[in-house]
Amino acid sequence: MRLLSLFTTLLLITSCAPQSNAPKVDNAMAEREANIQREIVLKEQRQYFERVMKIGYKIQKSNTELCGKKIAPDFGFAYGVSTQYPKEYKPVAERLFGLRDDPTVYHVFPNSLAQGKLKMGDVIKQVDDQVIKSGLSGIKKLNKIFNEEDYIDQPVTFIVDRRGEEKQITLTPPAICSGKIAITTNNVINAYADGENIIIDSGMMDFAKKDSELALVIGHELAHNTRKHVEAKQGNALLGMVLGAVVTGVTGINVMGLGSDLGALAHSQGFEAEADYIGIYHSARAGYDISEAPQLWRRMGAKNPQGIHLAGTTHPSTAKRLIALEMAAKEIADKKKRGEALIPAEKTKEDFKATVRDYNT
Ligand SMILES: [Zn+2]
Repeated sequence: MRLLSLFTTLLLITSCAPQSNAPKVDNAMAEREANIQREIVLKEQRQYFERVMKIGYKIQKSNTELCGKKIAPDFGFAYGVSTQYPKEYKPVAERLFGLRDDPTVYHVFPNSLAQGKLKMGDVIKQVDDQVIKSGLSGIKKLNKIFNEEDYIDQPVTFIVDRRGEEKQITLTPPAICSGKIAITTNNVINAYADGENIIIDSGMMDFAKKDSELALVIGHELAHNTRKHVEAKQGNALLGMVLGAVVTGVTGINVMGLGSDLGALAHSQGFEAEADYIGIYHSARAGYDISEAPQLWRRMGAKNPQGIHLAGTTHPSTAKRLIALEMAAKEIADKKKRGEALIPAEKTKEDFKATVRDYNT
């Protein structure tokens, strides 16, 4: 009896434990490789960031007159601090991007006010008479300044430290559509608007291969914000979340490890249709080709067959979206031909009453 139970125990042990002599890896070796992989992560994020900002900045600039009260001063650069990266990424971010514990210029937008005046790696010490502190509190102050409508068309003086040399740079910012654009490390095909900002999952960055497709996505999310489809309260809560994660820059942020809870911000089909319609105008006004971009929705349908429906669910039909976008693209092309301004058509009072009737019946 005793022998038998010993045998069963041995059998259990040997069947659970690996039996081959696999190489053992020590932590120091693994840490070196981990740093190589982290460097790839940050380099890829930087590429995503530059692509999204190239397109997003153009869209935010070209649509200022359609953004209503959602405007901000356009200083033409983004900033960040290394302390906002998780601690194992901090030294990598410092080495790759010249970021410091103090708010640092992370990116200067091409053809912007800051081009030729500010440089990547400049440490921001003071804005007018406001001293910019180290770390998150400095970033918060800069975020406030970059969102302050009162600075539009007013001269603002930045004092920066460029490799130990103090420089004074005065910028008089024009207006731009407000809001940051964040990229998550979630490899899913999705994007959201939180009322103020735009959040794009890395999976969507890969899926929207052509710039004109990503422009359509950004235009769509911008429309959710400017048309106030998201309650301000909700937007602020999410902004807190975004700021709690990895932030680089004010017009652009990289977010790591942001949960998928943002996906819960589902909009009604009516809002989705409006965001598609206004969004394609946003994209066209920024100069993007809108004739083929709607095809994104054909590929999306093929990838998510549950989205190819004609009846009501919470998500609009990919088939209807594609056709509506193509109709809007034709409307825009006709306006261009006639030399008319690219302004989306608003409902007349009669149209509005008819829609309400439709909803009620
Ligand atoms: Zn949407």
